[in-house]
Amino acid sequence: LGSLGAASGLVVMGALWYVAKQRLSVRSLLKSALKTSEIYMVYQPVVNLSTREWIGAEALVRWRRPDGSDIRPDIFIPIAEETGLIQQMTLRIMETVAHDSVGILKKNPRFHIGMNLSGIDLESNTIIETLQRLLEHGHLRANNLLLEATERTLLKAHLANQVLSDIRSMGIAVAIDDFGTGYSSLSYLTELKFDYLKIDKSFVDTIGTNSATSHVIFHIIKMAQSLKLSIIAEGVESEHQARFLEQHGVQFAQGWLFAKPMLVADLVDHIHR
Ligand code: C2E
Ligand code: CA
Ligand code: CA
Ligand code: CA
Repeated sequence: LGSLGAASGLVVMGALWYVAKQRLSVRSLLKSALKTSEIYMVYQPVVNLSTREWIGAEALVRWRRPDGSDIRPDIFIPIAEETGLIQQMTLRIMETVAHDSVGILKKNPRFHIGMNLSGIDLESNTIIETLQRLLEHGHLRANNLLLEATERTLLKAHLANQVLSDIRSMGIAVAIDDFGTGYSSLSYLTELKFDYLKIDKSFVDTIGTNSATSHVIFHIIKMAQSLKLSIIAEGVESEHQARFLEQHGVQFAQGWLFAKPMLVADLVDHIHR
């Protein structure tokens, strides 16, 4: 039995070593990809639910390998976070967005561009310096930007509170993302100041179903309204969901019903003046 225990211990150690080694090889692939066009951005329009007009877009990162295969952001972002590459990646993303914004803002100077923050971005002031630099040297203005942070992100970052309030004092809007999927949501909403609340797709999916949680979205909307937060619903796929949300006072939405994430050239082509 003792030797069996030792043997299974070895198997576990072997598996852990294998996973660690794979992470390291993904890290080195990602590190070099960051210097190439393998890493690029797509933009998913955010619409005004009552006019269906595109008022903004969320920037989403993509990784396409030279062999044409795509690696999903929910796979490579956690690896970038764990292997210390995320700051470099966020910098690259922000510079790309600043560059892309020139064409976007020519079409509509009031367009909003949303960017996702990772927990590590909220652990230091680097992000503040990057944002200041972009605002000083580019076409972007503070009121064109919306920075999104998830509850999970806020939980991990000790400086989150201070960094987010610094971002807001620059005149940049902040959103609590994937609302309802993290922990202790209520304390974040009352302690930190947000401008927008993004309702996670998992709640939008329950609209019109008999699922036990289908009433939850109703309460999330009511709560956001009582805290005077603007609401963006994500993952809207059906006209029925869009109508429900609009009838309950949700102003903004994104989802495949309106548009899928697209390259900046396509976005610019379709923005109304
Ligand atoms: P998220 O911030 O919740 O982004 C929304 C995700 O929902 C995106 O997935 C988007 O493509 C997808 N989506 C939007 N509408 C629909 C719909 O109607 N139906 C369905 N089935 N899906 C829809 P994506 O691009 O794969 O991103 C996944 C997550 O990776 C994001 O979730 C975000 O947490 C993270 N992420 C993406 N880009 C970035 C980035 O530039 N920086 C950071 N830190 N995280 C990012
Ligand atoms: Ca987001
Ligand atoms: Ca989200
Ligand atoms: Ca989500």
